[in-house]
Amino acid sequence: MRVLSGIQTTGHLHLGNYLGAIKNWVKMQDTVGAEGGECLYFLADLHAITVHNDPAELRDNTRNMAAALIAAGVDPDRSTLFNQAQVPAHAELAWLLNGTARIGWLNRMTQFKEKSGKNKEGASVGLYVYPVLQAADILIYQSTHVPVGEDQRQHLELTRDIAIKFNQDFGREVFTIPDAYIPKTAARIMSLRDGTAKMSKSDPSDMSRVNLSDDVDMIAQKVRKAKSDADALPDDIAALEGRPEARNLVNIYATLADTTPEAVLAQFAGQGFGQFKPALADLLVSVLGPITTRYNELRTDTAQLDAYLAHGAAKARALAAPTLDAAYDALGLLRAA
Ligand code: ATP
Ligand code: MG
Repeated sequence: MRVLSGIQTTGHLHLGNYLGAIKNWVKMQDTVGAEGGECLYFLADLHAITVHNDPAELRDNTRNMAAALIAAGVDPDRSTLFNQAQVPAHAELAWLLNGTARIGWLNRMTQFKEKSGKNKEGASVGLYVYPVLQAADILIYQSTHVPVGEDQRQHLELTRDIAIKFNQDFGREVFTIPDAYIPKTAARIMSLRDGTAKMSKSDPSDMSRVNLSDDVDMIAQKVRKAKSDADALPDDIAALEGRPEARNLVNIYATLADTTPEAVLAQFAGQGFGQFKPALADLLVSVLGPITTRYNELRTDTAQLDAYLAHGAAKARALAAPTLDAAYDALGLLRAA
């Protein structure tokens, strides 16, 4: 079992990333490791350049993201943690796969439609072929399981289609066909300002999310100002229907406390947000506090962070090499041995 997952190096890690993805990455180090498998986690800096890119910011974001992941519990010794740019095989394989991916397939990708907005002609070519690079990220390591949020399911399907077609066209099993792994318990955290929109790095309002870099005061302020309503919490989860903000705050509490929304309501039924919000802020601070402290220590030690990434990249390059060779060879591309 080989698990692969990545995160874009745009902005800071937020609560949604942590509860929806990273917490699960940390868990998988144990569960996958216990079965003799391995986890590869990468920073998608090559994906980050498909949208507006400030080079100094990208450099900072890449290191910050590495620091945040390690602070959250990703262990650079047990997992392979690296940034794409240090493993050229990602970009090389993406080019090779461009011969297999069909324009019609890419035209169906909803993420491109969302991220390119109204100005499709002005979007970068990179944004359009982004899913092919994602396919390369996955296939280069013969990954068997790819933990993805619902938002990435379509890209994983495309990856499977590319791998199947390549193997068929060239008559060799060059690539393992990966499976999506969508954990049943994966939390979907919504914006603090709008209970119907996903909490997101790219939301222009910083008040919409809790960042792993936020201090205690900032967390308390964001929770206090989070959109809610004037009603008390019910004792039945069904009664939260039509109250997306209330539902989201209860859900955040439950996920942080490793319990169910039902159990949270059993505890807080009858109380209003004047009472619930301070409890939520306390819980957030107690869970995120140690992570934030470690994050702030690590962030300043760029030499150490660069060493971690270099170490991970060396491991990743060694894992990628045989697949890249097999793909060049299957295509009939001559290279000196
Ligand atoms: P962007 O706005 O740039 O797309 P993002 O906040 O969506 O950023 P990604 O880097 O796209 O973050 O996603 C990283 C991981 O975090 C993915 O596995 C994604 O499914 C997960 N994730 C992102 N936002 C949430 C959220 N609000 N709740 C749960 N999981 C999330
Ligand atoms: Mg996203």
